Amino acid sequence: MELKNIINKIFSELSDYTGHGQVADYIPALSSVKRDSFAISAATLDGNVISAGDFTERFSIQSISKVFTLAMVSRHLGDKLWESVGREPSGTAFNSLIQLEQEKGIPRNPFINSGALVITDRLIDLYPDSKHAIIDFVRELSGVKDISYDKSVALSELETSHRNLALANFIKSFGNIHNKVEDIIDVYCNQCSISMSTEELAKSFLFLASGGVIPTTGQRVCGPRSVKRLNALMLTCGLYNESGDFAFRVGMPGKSGVGGGIVAVIPNKLSIAVWSPELNSNGNSYRGIETLERFTTELGISVF
Ligand code: GLU
Repeated sequence: MELKNIINKIFSELSDYTGHGQVADYIPALSSVKRDSFAISAATLDGNVISAGDFTERFSIQSISKVFTLAMVSRHLGDKLWESVGREPSGTAFNSLIQLEQEKGIPRNPFINSGALVITDRLIDLYPDSKHAIIDFVRELSGVKDISYDKSVALSELETSHRNLALANFIKSFGNIHNKVEDIIDVYCNQCSISMSTEELAKSFLFLASGGVIPTTGQRVCGPRSVKRLNALMLTCGLYNESGDFAFRVGMPGKSGVGGGIVAVIPNKLSIAVWSPELNSNGNSYRGIETLERFTTELGISVF
């Protein structure tokens, strides 16, 4: 079946598939989102994007931003980065403090909050004006010039970031964070607040399906080795404490966020973004996962 028909079929099959989860409610800007919003966009290597539903509506990308900051940092720091962040699934909640004590301030992976905070610390070393650098990077990847931070989300995140402050302070006590904790949390809360549509997200992840090059511009973002590593980390650690089940059901490297978005890629083929704000108990969009499972099944292709 053609890609367009597969997307339309899954969209219509799942259009009423709501009411099984909770919208993130730790800040007002997320809890007020329309819970039955639903969008799918798939971008192919020739730059075509096929979408269904609310695909132009922007939402809070939250933890999906961790892929962008990791890509920015790893292309500069190379292997050295992996002395301060691990590459194993954590088996704990995304914002857990528990392993950090035993593992001496080295976070298990860059997609749990502790790891992402270390990445943001290195980003500040590399780019003194980090907030500009991140948004410029996302605009470059997507080709969309008006993507920006949602200031009200960023502010609410800041007001409720006690646990992230605790994580950053704890890591700093082990010497694995160098910058001021407040500066790191400020950048981190802003990166989580970036507002994008599924169409824009699918385009911005296409470099991970095309060996590190943005197919529409030919610009190289990173080398094939970095792409291999970013995709491997998404596959093993990208869906919080549900990464194994996501690999089992969907078979694509992916990254989710508590705004209800999930982005996934099939190397050398496509990237796909889904958005449906109701979350399961792991903090992942349950309709998003169902969509992606049906997608690889219908398509008959996954990374396996
Ligand atoms: N912004 C929230 C936090 O860091 C959630 C991010 C997410 O997991 O999507 O606590």
